[in-house]
Amino acid sequence: MTAMGTELAPARQSCPACGAGHPRAASASRRTGSVVATCRRCGAHWLTNPSPGQEIAESYDFDRDTYAAFVAAKRQGTLEGAYEATLQRLDQVILSGGRDLFDVGAGAGEFMALARERGFEPHGNELAPGAIEMAREQTGVELHHGDLSTLEGENLYDAVTMWCVLAHVPDPDDLLAQIHRVLKPGGVLFLQTPRWSAMDTTALTLARLTRGRSVRVLDRRVNDSHMVLYSRRGLTAQAERAGFEVVSAEPVARYSLKTDSYLRSLGVPRRAATTAARGLDLAVDRNLFFRNILDLYARKPLA
Ligand SMILES: [Zn+2]
Repeated sequence: MTAMGTELAPARQSCPACGAGHPRAASASRRTGSVVATCRRCGAHWLTNPSPGQEIAESYDFDRDTYAAFVAAKRQGTLEGAYEATLQRLDQVILSGGRDLFDVGAGAGEFMALARERGFEPHGNELAPGAIEMAREQTGVELHHGDLSTLEGENLYDAVTMWCVLAHVPDPDDLLAQIHRVLKPGGVLFLQTPRWSAMDTTALTLARLTRGRSVRVLDRRVNDSHMVLYSRRGLTAQAERAGFEVVSAEPVARYSLKTDSYLRSLGVPRRAATTAARGLDLAVDRNLFFRNILDLYARKPLA
């Protein structure tokens, strides 16, 4: 397909997180042709050859039924706990004094609904029309339809939140710049994004040893939807480059898909996935599984 608008990033030969050059490249996946690069400085890993052509808005053009099926595959409980803890932490680190919160890629509005219960004034945006419809029904909030660059004004919000958005966008530096613009001085960005974990190192080693033949797990973790898997050091460098003061960047274990859905997405047959999922769910619930996520809190400096 040829491009009809914004192209996804071309092959990236410098680290999207810390900016260092001369990465180490893995063999191309025999399944997808994707090539994963490793930053020798910060340990971030990224897709060097994302698929060109499709506008990001098109790839999120889900209707209501499609979006509802996606919501149904999410693990119940895990994210609610994370939502609650995040709102409490935001209360401790926001210095701008207000309660206006903007959720980027707000989905069906579950996080905004809880934010409102905890005394925040929720706002948000979405690209998927089906999600905007669900958010309207569940929260009464009218989400902005479009990315953050189409939202006018500056110094508007005390908190901006992003649940697994940064790794999906073709230009994460630009997204962080937009967030910096709309935050008030003293306001705080919270984001969670996939982290390069021990599981991924195993998958990458397997891909290298088999010259791109055993790549199912690696392809599932680094792809057009997760173009960068960050390290703490790389994510910190990127936030600081965008003008933020990093409050904290912490690895956590958080699995938002149900384990059986996740295993089946890796190609494990249904019955085996159901059996394996029981044991893995226990490990996830006890926070014993790989720390697959980074939580970042970063503040726009006061004046
Ligand atoms: Zn780097």
